[in-house]
Amino acid sequence: MPQPAHLNELRRMSARVGKNILLTQAAGGNSSMKHGDVLWVKASGTWLADAEDKDIFLPITLSGARAALADGNERMPVAPDHAASQLRASIETSLHALMPHPVVLHVHSVNTIAWSVRKDARDELSERLRGLSWQRLDYHHPGLPLAQAVNESLAQRPADVLILGNHGLVVGAATCGAAQELMMEVERRLSLVPRTSPPAAHDTLAQICAGTEYRPAPDPLHHALATDPHNLSIAAGGSLYPDHVIFLGRALPALLEGEDLALPGAGLVADGPPPVAVLVRGKGAVIRKDANAAAQALLTCLALVVTRLPLDAAVEYLSPAKEQALLDWDAEHYRQQMMAKR
Ligand SMILES: [Zn+2]
Repeated sequence: MPQPAHLNELRRMSARVGKNILLTQAAGGNSSMKHGDVLWVKASGTWLADAEDKDIFLPITLSGARAALADGNERMPVAPDHAASQLRASIETSLHALMPHPVVLHVHSVNTIAWSVRKDARDELSERLRGLSWQRLDYHHPGLPLAQAVNESLAQRPADVLILGNHGLVVGAATCGAAQELMMEVERRLSLVPRTSPPAAHDTLAQICAGTEYRPAPDPLHHALATDPHNLSIAAGGSLYPDHVIFLGRALPALLEGEDLALPGAGLVADGPPPVAVLVRGKGAVIRKDANAAAQALLTCLALVVTRLPLDAAVEYLSPAKEQALLDWDAEHYRQQMMAKR
């Protein structure tokens, strides 16, 4: 069913935000617009970047979505004339529904993530955002748990900007133009200059990959995760945010001197499937030949975040229990199936 003309602004804003890897990677991030009792929200597994080329928005009954949130129900009621739609509403629909703003935009901006994974930067974050109507929340599992935490927090103190710990940024505004402007204002204030890293040793990486399921990682940025010892220690030390765990698995394994990539799993990870990407100390990153576009984008995102962390940053990782909850998550398996069809 074609989408109504009043969504054109939402589609334009979403496509622009979706095509900027500093703001959105793969099917991450989502946007919505409220129109009467209808909440038009991005469908799960679709890419914001496709907003002007495909029908990625789904109408949800706003009052029904708010009632579902109050009942602790994750299933969102699709508007009656779209009941037959094959699409499923975004995992974050309840978050969009509870916010009072007509337009809500949620992004995984690398600058915001770089601030949101630090334990030691609360004061500087407050200083940079001074004068804006904002709040910082600790990490909550995406979907209903996150929406419930935001709901409680906004009931105590309304805000237009939410910094989600180990996750990203949400802004709410009256129009798409105002939402975009507010997001860019936060981005400008939180902007960080990435540290430079030594170049990759391409010949060595090619030799290491020969005869394996891996190839040297395609984006020059990927190698920064392994050629700089500081970046490598952060990336190998744990997982920083949900989409990393979902698309790349836990943390990133680092190949030790003398270890053989031809035996993925041996010495790299204790259990589970072979890692999507492996860091080769001082040389660069390698990625599985069958890694999809989303995995590549999330590896780029990690490099963009990690190179923005100062050398003395105190990093907060997701706990093993939080990682496991992301790996066991049904809604996420659905999102990945939808993405595979893109
Ligand atoms: Zn998110």
